Amino acid sequence: MKYFSTNHQAPDATLREAVERGLAPDRGLYMPEKIKALPPSFYEHIDEMTFQEMSFEVAKAFFGDDVDEQSLKQIVDETLAFETPVVPVERGIYALELFHGPTLAFKDVGARFMARLLQYFIKKDRRSNNRVNVLVATSGDTGSAVANGFLGVDGIHVYVLYPKGKVSKIQESQFTTLGQNITALEVDGVFDDCQALVKSAFMDSELNQHMALTSANSINVARFLPQAFYYFNAYAQLKRSGQLCFAKDGKSNLVVCVPSGNFGNITAGLFAARMGLPIKHFIASNNANDVFYNYLQTGAYQPKPSKQTLANAMDVGDPSNFARILSLYNNSWERIKADISGATYPDSRIRETMRACYTSTDYVLDPHGACGYQALKEQLGNDEVGVFLETAHPAKFKEKVDDILGIDIVIPQRLQNFMKGKKQSVETDSSFDSFKSFLMQE
Ligand SMILES: *Cc1c(COP(=O)(O)O)cnc(C)c1O
Repeated sequence: MKYFSTNHQAPDATLREAVERGLAPDRGLYMPEKIKALPPSFYEHIDEMTFQEMSFEVAKAFFGDDVDEQSLKQIVDETLAFETPVVPVERGIYALELFHGPTLAFKDVGARFMARLLQYFIKKDRRSNNRVNVLVATSGDTGSAVANGFLGVDGIHVYVLYPKGKVSKIQESQFTTLGQNITALEVDGVFDDCQALVKSAFMDSELNQHMALTSANSINVARFLPQAFYYFNAYAQLKRSGQLCFAKDGKSNLVVCVPSGNFGNITAGLFAARMGLPIKHFIASNNANDVFYNYLQTGAYQPKPSKQTLANAMDVGDPSNFARILSLYNNSWERIKADISGATYPDSRIRETMRACYTSTDYVLDPHGACGYQALKEQLGNDEVGVFLETAHPAKFKEKVDDILGIDIVIPQRLQNFMKGKKQSVETDSSFDSFKSFLMQE
């Protein structure tokens, strides 16, 4: 399968090229040239399949031309060695809990899938002994998922850039204590500085001649596409429990609400729908960063600097996957509006929602999931069933959640284990010269 760039100024790429580059040479995002619908028999029997079985069918539709079946099956099985349960919260509203992976982040699936796919390509091509270097800027969650997903993978080295003193202790321990092929760079600056360093590195020709660089943010097709698996699994679980009904046109009454930042997760959901998954409607829920919300209202896309909020993994002022959504809908604002509605909430509203939900249902939302839950409360019709993606374990934001709800959440053992390791990081200032000279010696 070929991949084209959303900017249409670069040649089509193979899957391997798209994964090893991250961004296309014209700064566009890679899109698969075809989105294959899965056959009716797949949807009839989806509720009899395991998460791994249904995901393998989805993975084959995208990657089946480029990866042999046996290897692809192994990649899928290793990536999805945990569950993403649909949990009832109140009448008609369910949480799809995506935080049961190794670092308790939904980004675990994409990160692990990408690591194993890259490893497959490197092994297949024995002539090449060039190391692939993954750069990732993080405000917390992405760094931990990527570092753990790539840990110990031969032929790949990961550099995690994070802002000194601005990442929670738990998150910092998840990527600074690993060693092996993971280097943590502690940047004296803010998250935007880390992201700017990564962007400059991709544009520096001397550095790119010195080492092969790619990105593990959701611009990378191998990071974002596997997130489609979640939507099939949510649908299968609800179908199995008899919660869904169907209109004559085959659409179900299922509304899916996605707390969104860079819009990688929801874009994967839109791909699932294009493959025939009968989702009636999507809601993209945002914190105070309302660029997409405003686009839905006005048709004008106006990126802004990001604002810091309680749901900090969604603090994005220029969502990178917006280009993919435009491409998927041929730039039609009308068609985008017809499939996706928006929501935006200030921190005060996120706090109120967390308290109200806990009081009435006992369910502990994290600040990201709270945006998803609230949008369903406001927008769900009487005959509809709503699922919001609960993207983070509330213990990851323990201080905030304890404070807002007046509780003392238990930190899962898996998270505690990270905190026992010894921190190793390389300190650097936020100038590109320092970063580049460090990489030139690697
Ligand atoms: C990354 C992240 C998001 C946003 O996902 P996008 O794919 O960037 O839209 C939401 N919640 C949490 C907890 C995250 O880590």
